[in-house]
Amino acid sequence: MSAITQTEEANLQLDTQGFAIVVDGLRKRYGSLVAVDGISFRVKEREIFGLLGPNGAGKTTTVEILEGLRQTDEGRVLVAGIDVRKVPDKVKGVIGVQLQSSAFFDGLSLLELLDLFAALYGRSVDAMALLEKVDLKEKARSNVNKLSGGQKQRFSIATALVNEPKILFLDEPTTGLDPQARRNLWELAQAIRTEGRTIVLTTHYMDEAETLCDRVAIMDHGKILAMEPPDLLIQRLLDKGFHSQRVERSANLEDVFLDMTGHGLREG
Ligand code: ATP
Repeated sequence: MSAITQTEEANLQLDTQGFAIVVDGLRKRYGSLVAVDGISFRVKEREIFGLLGPNGAGKTTTVEILEGLRQTDEGRVLVAGIDVRKVPDKVKGVIGVQLQSSAFFDGLSLLELLDLFAALYGRSVDAMALLEKVDLKEKARSNVNKLSGGQKQRFSIATALVNEPKILFLDEPTTGLDPQARRNLWELAQAIRTEGRTIVLTTHYMDEAETLCDRVAIMDHGKILAMEPPDLLIQRLLDKGFHSQRVERSANLEDVFLDMTGHGLREG
């Protein structure tokens, strides 16, 4: 392969400015299965970008490549300007990954866990301030196994923020949460974006993507079928003459649920 010239390098940098993530021609195979089939996309800085698609579409593979956890076969991947193929370990310093809470040690309090995570990054952190941000100050001295599902999800986001990441990856963050806790988590994601961070969200909940995401990429069989703001995708479908079979009403069962049980969090 010929060495890249200085002009090409300069053009490349111009081309990628203002983007938190740049993916060009990414391909990943598992044996004969092409899990990610030459996809290209860009995520803007401070964007909430949704990766949607049915089971097996290639979302996790794509995200794990962005996180430097999985190798690519082909393509260019820049995360916060870092070439993931060349220096995957460097990427870990600029991203936050929300872990599933089962991965946490038992026996340590939330405060101790945050200090431990910070130490792994060679940082010190104001753990109490971080817990306040995710609305868990009252639980600072509890163990993770004493938290409700929503609290665990918020705590896992706190752990992902210890290194002040530029880009936060949220993987199905509201699975199994009640409507109040889901909305609370959406507000947290929006607040994190307001701080200037970029969020990449994978979700199977279309209402979640519609509420949170500036743009979504819809994947299937390793390819991106569409990549637009949710409103635009919906308008395109309507322009094609689509009519929903459902009777549209101005309230749904979730509205009934929230009307009866209130918007406040139920997690003691
Ligand atoms: P889900 O919504 O179920 O999480 P996904 O969109 O995240 O699905 P991937 O997990 O990326 O999809 O999987 C894409 C394809 O690659 C699937 O057919 C899956 O079976 C396959 N696959 C994923 N990981 C491996 C692996 N380590 N070895 C072999 N095949 C794999």
